Amino acid sequence: MDNFENHLAEDPLFGAALDTLAIRAGQTRSHEGEHSEALYLTSSYVFGSAQEAAERFSGAQEGNVYSRYTNPTVRMFEERIAALEGAEAAVGTSSGMAAILSTCIALLKSGDHILCSRSVFGTTTVLFTKFLQKFGVSTTFVNPTDYSAWEAGFTANTKLVFVETPSNPLCDVIDLQRLADLTHVHGALFVVDNCFCTPALQQPLKFGADLIIHSATKYIDGQGRCLGGVVAGAKQHVDEVLGFIRSAGPSMSPFNAWVFLKGLETLRLRMEAHSRNALALAQWLNAHPQVEKVFYAGLPTHMGHELAVKQQSAFGGVLSFRVKGGREEAWKVIDATRIMSLTANLGDTKTTIVHPATTTHGRLSPEQKAEAGITENLIRIAVGLEDIADLKADLARGLG
Ligand SMILES: *Cc1c(COP(=O)(O)O)cnc(C)c1O
Repeated sequence: MDNFENHLAEDPLFGAALDTLAIRAGQTRSHEGEHSEALYLTSSYVFGSAQEAAERFSGAQEGNVYSRYTNPTVRMFEERIAALEGAEAAVGTSSGMAAILSTCIALLKSGDHILCSRSVFGTTTVLFTKFLQKFGVSTTFVNPTDYSAWEAGFTANTKLVFVETPSNPLCDVIDLQRLADLTHVHGALFVVDNCFCTPALQQPLKFGADLIIHSATKYIDGQGRCLGGVVAGAKQHVDEVLGFIRSAGPSMSPFNAWVFLKGLETLRLRMEAHSRNALALAQWLNAHPQVEKVFYAGLPTHMGHELAVKQQSAFGGVLSFRVKGGREEAWKVIDATRIMSLTANLGDTKTTIVHPATTTHGRLSPEQKAEAGITENLIRIAVGLEDIADLKADLARGLG
């Protein structure tokens, strides 16, 4: 990766706005002069001479060696993400989970402690408790909006604080600046999984985060095609993560990087449209007689509304709501839909609907579910870009 300071001085995009960066940042052109980003499907690279090969391998000369280490298409994606997050550097990974795993393995050691929001992606919880635990890294989970619980959770070995905001599925909003400050007082790194907002709506580095993680699989792709992830932040930390990826192999596929580059070009437009549709659906559900409660930070009655206004430029595409009744009534609404997809994925132009208590959060004990607010009558919707009237009609079928 280029030296950041030198790069800036001569970069025509220095100071450019997000919409420009999303379309232009990171692009390099080959001698063919292609206008769109080139897709370099190659696992290795040839050298001009034995001496050049030796220098590339030793690191004396910069350049490509093997696509587990670097690939020009992946590099374009990494530089574009770094520009959008306002980060010094970024590194792509094979999936969002690979980004989280690589960050933890690279930056933690046996005996270290992770302090993690209770409301994180289910597989993140499994990774931390079932697997990192085996290697002597322990994790404590905290109610994300209880700052005294965060404070009390730190130990002398806490090295990493991990959050998502807004949370899934209840859209709790975490005060990033406050938690960043607290984390730094304790000498730990503040890591934010920014998957739900993307840099189009929220840039956590501005609020003191040290590292950003994405599942590019979601909104960055935006059309449900490819798996990928990325870690962005200070070069010093990203280089550590890169070192692990090169050795262990969870590298991003160049084809996927190319799809993500195209996704980034329309990211802001899509995120604003997702947010607009989600807000309209949340307002409609909020006024529906068969709905008990709606969770969406765009509603002024939501606990996290003011904080979301401060941290985010829009409220995102995910909402959840409780129907009147229990599991039977919730399942009835889900099964009556004919347009929405019954799938746990999110971040797609296609709207998805899911019953968290029996799917994404199904492995939680009844006590954990109660504590996290995952009731049997809760439904989560990742609102897509279909016509809002059709989405309302789709839900109305089962709401009676
Ligand atoms: C999907 C998701 C992940 C995991 O990403 P994969 O690309 O599926 O590995 C991590 N965090 C959040 C918030 C997610 O939604």
